[in-house]
This record gives sequence, C-alpha cells and structure tokens, in this order.
Amino acid sequence: MIGILGGTFDPIHFGHLRPALEVQEHLGMDEVRFIPCGLPPHRRQPAVSVAHRAAMVELAVQGQPGFVMDPRELQREGPSYSVDTLESLRAELGQEVPLCLMLGMDAFAGLSSWHRWREITRLAHVVVSHRPGSPASHDLGDWMQDHCTLDPQDLRRTPAGRVFFLPVTQLDISATAIRRLIARGYSPLYLTPRVVVDYIADHGLYGPAATR
Ligand code: ATP
Repeated sequence: MIGILGGTFDPIHFGHLRPALEVQEHLGMDEVRFIPCGLPPHRRQPAVSVAHRAAMVELAVQGQPGFVMDPRELQREGPSYSVDTLESLRAELGQEVPLCLMLGMDAFAGLSSWHRWREITRLAHVVVSHRPGSPASHDLGDWMQDHCTLDPQDLRRTPAGRVFFLPVTQLDISATAIRRLIARGYSPLYLTPRVVVDYIADHGLYGPAATR
C-alpha cells in the first residue's frame, strides 16, 4: 500500500510529516510519496520555485524509512491536477496496488471542486486526517455514504475507491505562518526540521534575512 501526500510544501513542516508518519504506521503503508506540486490549480502561486520546495522535501524525508520525495510534478507544464498525478502513478505502479491519497480536512472539504474529482476515487482511496482550524468532518452527501468506510482493512481489499478518516496528532502549523515568521525575522525552528531551516537560511528564502 502506497500513500500519496501532495502539497505546495512552501515549505514542508511538521504538520505534514507527523500526520504522514501516523497514517503510514496505522495503515501499514510501504511507502509515503511526498509530491510537491508544480502549479497549484486551486490557490495562489507558491512563494518559491518548485525546485526549492522539492529540495526541502527531499531533505526533510531523508533517512525516514518509506518516505520518498516524488519529483513527477517538477517538469509538468500547466496546472498540476491530482487526477493526472494519480494516473501517472497507476501507469507506473500497476492496477493492483492500493493507493491512498492523503488529505488534511481542509483539502478534503474542497475535493468536490477538484478537476475530475470523481475519477480520483476510481484511481485511489482517500485518507483524511483532521487538521486544527478545519471542521471536524465534511459530508459530500450520497457519494460519501457510498465510499466511506470505518474498516482500515477495506483499504487493502481493493486498490481504490474508499474514503477513510483518521484522527492524528493535531499540530497547528501552516506554511503560511512559517513564511510570515521568517519575513518578520523570526526563526521557524521546531515547526520544521532543522535541515529545512538551514536550507531556507542558506538560500535566503521567504524573507530578507532568514533566522536559523
Ligand atoms: P499554506 O499555509 O501555504 O496554505 P499548508 O501548510 O496548508 O500551506 P500544503 O502544502 O498546502 O500546506 O498542504 C498539503 C497537505 O497537507 C494538505 O492536504 C493539507 O491539508 C495537509 N496539511 C498541511 N498542514 C497540516 C497540518 N498542520 N495538519 C494536518 N494536515 C496538514
């Protein structure tokens, strides 16, 4: 079973890493692929290039068994749609392996506005974790009734098509807050790994003088 965590990762932080580990351990995933998106279709453009964001993800996951930075969106032209990413993963990994698209509740709440969103659940399961500041649940109506499961084993029985909610440690960390801290001259240490803090400082990202 493979988890997929897409994001802008502008920058990656412990609010991405800790929930990803908890989901990986709870569901027994062989791999979690962190996929930095090129051009996000649903939001403002990232503050730094996809190359920098991918480099920070690479540093953050280094040495963690099963955590991988997947560069497939780095070269893609045009908006990065999750459905295209999942299709390319299916082409690479085959039809049988269970794929789990991992989403925070804020991202899941917007799912029905995503490009070809119903196809997403034909390609992968959706694993939703709670996030501070987001509603405790989100109902997509009849569609949810048909897809939701409380049994994690269901995610192993089929390669795609189920929605599973998992409570994780609530860390009120966002990339936006980290960028603001740095812009004001404060250190983002302990919100994100030290290797990421050092990368930001070495490359002068997010502010005139990033503090370590
Ligand atoms: P920004 O503040 O720039 O909007 P972000 O911190 O929300 O960024 P993203 O890269 O946009 O980070 O998030 C990628 C995925 O990680 C999304 O599915 C999001 O819900 C989830 N996520 C981000 N931060 C947290 C957190 N603190 N707890 C749980 N999930 C999170």
